[in-house]
Formats: sequence, structure tokens, C-alpha cells
Amino acid sequence: MDIELIRQYRELCRFLLKGMRDSYSGTETGGRVVTSLLDAFERINSASQVKDLHRQLKDVVLREPPARVDELQDQLAVLKREVLRHSDDERQQTEVFEGLKGMVDILLREVGALADQDENLQRLYAEVRENLDRLATGEEAAELQQQLKNLLFHKAMIQGVLDQERDELKNIIVIMAGTLTAFVDVGGSFSSNLDDYAKRLQVVRDLQEIQTVRDLLLKETISLKDHTARMMQEANDANVRVEMANQKIEKLKQQMERIKQEVILDPLTRAYNRRAFDERINQELSAAKRYGNTSSLIMLDIDHFKDVNDSYGHRTGDGVLRVVAGILKKEIRDIDVLCRYGGEEFTLILPHTPLHAAADVAERLRRKIAESRFSYKGRHFHVTASFGVGEISPADTVERCVRRADEAMYRAKEGGRNCVRVGAAVLAPESP
Ligand code: GH3
Ligand code: MG
Ligand code: MG
Repeated sequence: MDIELIRQYRELCRFLLKGMRDSYSGTETGGRVVTSLLDAFERINSASQVKDLHRQLKDVVLREPPARVDELQDQLAVLKREVLRHSDDERQQTEVFEGLKGMVDILLREVGALADQDENLQRLYAEVRENLDRLATGEEAAELQQQLKNLLFHKAMIQGVLDQERDELKNIIVIMAGTLTAFVDVGGSFSSNLDDYAKRLQVVRDLQEIQTVRDLLLKETISLKDHTARMMQEANDANVRVEMANQKIEKLKQQMERIKQEVILDPLTRAYNRRAFDERINQELSAAKRYGNTSSLIMLDIDHFKDVNDSYGHRTGDGVLRVVAGILKKEIRDIDVLCRYGGEEFTLILPHTPLHAAADVAERLRRKIAESRFSYKGRHFHVTASFGVGEISPADTVERCVRRADEAMYRAKEGGRNCVRVGAAVLAPESP
């Protein structure tokens, strides 16, 4: 057995171990086992013990990367001494050599685990493996040592790249976690996963693991994307529902407006009804009191309307009421208010209209009605109406205003119908 070969072999171990020392951080179990291996080294005195040590070392490296490479290195130095001590026994030396070779093999395997990541490293690794198998002389061992130096240099570089990649990924994840959790509340599961991944990345050793974490992250991101898309869809649906609800509300508003109109309109003539009249004349009187408005009220009653019904039928009478209401509406201003006071009787509230102007309006309306022609089954007829005009005075009550116009209207009836009579102007507030 070539002593030089063993020496070189030990050097190989040293280089490999140096490389590994840079790559691995300490682990508790590994440290403990290596310490016990050291004890075993102290007691070594046979090839079978070297073999046993080889097996134990293999166990440690397979289970966990060596924690304290320095110690292992020391142990190998002890081993070397032992080998030299037993160098006179050729067979034992061969066994020790095989044991050492086995250890180099294990150490190489650690480098080999990284070789997948890099083509160059892969090539160097294959070369070293091959040469290791064929190793027979000290010279070859020296060459192998050089190759191993190369290999370890590459490994260190790749490890550096891995560390960089890991750090960058870690940063990305921290930023992502911050950003994502800031604007998406996904029940905590996503952000807590992110924390887990960040923790895992702190301790990853190889690219494989980083890739696994990266793939998981990608999955999470896609699921978050889906989640966000779903949420946006839901928000969109909600918007559509809100839009529909708004349309419904708008429709209901219109319906309510119609109903409100129905409540205040007389269905036959579409003039305001008695209820609306009461409200409007109260408003007008309040305005008159507050602002000193001068407004007027006209009351009119169709003359001998009973005869119209009797002669042409009730339906024709209805038609006459509609036409008369139409004439009145057409002749008055927008702010004037036409109401059907009852039966064939109408009222007109004329805001901002003094008594004499209201009398002129009444006269015009009287004429318009009288000039209208009606027909029933080829028979033509006219209708007339009697008008009473009164002031809506701040000094008055509603009842008094109505009564004054009503009295004037009765005077018109008494005066022969188809004419206008004006109530007395109210000059001063009445005492209560
Ligand atoms: P006057 O000139 O004194 O007012 O005589 P008149 O016949 O108009 O008065 P009277 O009060 O005697 O008759 C009113 C008639 O109006 C009786 C009623 O049947 C009719 N009338 C009231 N409301 C309606 C209605 O909605 N449609 C129809 N067709 N007739 C109605
Ligand atoms: Mg009447
Ligand atoms: Mg009448």
C-alpha cells in the first residue's frame, strides 16, 4: 500500500471538508453524533473500527449535513495517524484505505446533490467520481485533489448564487406579503402562508427547496388572483344589483308620483279635486298673509246642468264636464289652479291676481264656455256657467274666502245666469 496515496487521500478529505464547512451551518443532532464519533476515533486501533466509523459518518451525513466539519477534519487526522501506525499490515491498510475512500464518497455525495443545478459542476463532479473509482497511486490522488479544489470552488460559487437567490426571494415575499395583505383580506390564510414561506426560505439549503417554495408561492399567487377576480366579479354583480335596485326605486318613485297625482286629481276632468283645493287655498292664504300677495278665487257652476243630463244623458253630461274643464285649463296660467269643487262646480285659484283682473279672467272664461258648441246625436247645444269672484285676502279665513266667491256666484245665478259677479273687496284685517 502506497503511504503517499493515503496521505493524498487524507488531503482530499481535508479539501472536501473545507468546502463543506462553508456550505453547512451547524445542526444540533449532527454536532452530538460527531462528538461521539470523535471518542470512537480516540479508541481506534483496527480496520474494522475505521469501517464502523465510516458507517457512522455515513449515517450522520445522510441524516444531516456535518455540523462541525472542523471536528470531522480532526478526526480524520487522528485516523491518518492510526493508518500510519498500522502501515506495516498490508491487508489492514487496504481496509483503512477503503474506509477512507468511503468517507470521501459520502462527502462527494454532498457536493453531488448540488451538481444538478449547474452543468459545469455536474461535469467536474462526474470526473472526480470516475477518478476516485480508478484511484491507485499517490500521483493520481494529487491530481484528483486539484480537481476537487476546482469542484469545491464551483460548488461555493453555486452556493453563493443560491444564497443570493434565496435572499432575493425572501425580500420579494416580504414585500409581497406587505402589499397583498394591505389591500386584500383573504381571511388570513394567504398572509400566514406567506409568513411560513419566508420562514422556510430562511433555512433552505438547496435550489430544489427554493424552487418548491417558489412553486407553492406561485400557486398561492394564482389562487389569490382567482380570488381577486372572483371578488371583482362579485363586486360587479353587486353593482349590477345596485343598478337594478336604483331602477326599481326610480320606477317606484314614478309610481308614487302617479299615485300622489291620482289622490289629488279628479278622475273625470283631471282637474284637482276638492281635497287638493283645500290644501292649495290654505297655501295661498298663508302666502298672502306672509308676503302680502293679492290673489283671487273664482267659483263657477254650470247652468241648468240637470237639463243637460236629462236631455242628452249622463254620459253626455260627463263629456260636457270634461270639455268645460279643458276650456278652463287652456285659458288659465300655469300657476293658476283649477279644481272640481263638486258636481258641475269648479273653482280657480289665481295667485298674484287682484280682484278686478280676476273678474276679467272670469268674464273671458264665461264667454269661452258660452261660445262652445256641443252635440248629441246630431243635435247641437250650448252650455253656460255662472261665475263668482272673490279676493283671497290676508285678513280672511279660507271659509270666508270661499263663501264670498260662492255668494257672488249665487248672485250671478240670481242675476240670470251666464254672468260674472264680484264679491266685495276686503280692505282691512278683520278683528278676531
Ligand atoms: P243651476 O243652474 O241652478 O245650477 O241648475 P243645475 O241643474 O245645474 O243645478 P242642480 O244642482 O239642480 O243640478 C246639478 C246636476 O248636476 C245634478 C247632477 O246629477 C248633475 N251632476 C253632478 N255631478 C255630475 C257628474 O259627475 N256627471 C254628470 N253627468 N252629472 C252630474
Ligand atoms: Mg251646482
Ligand atoms: Mg248648476
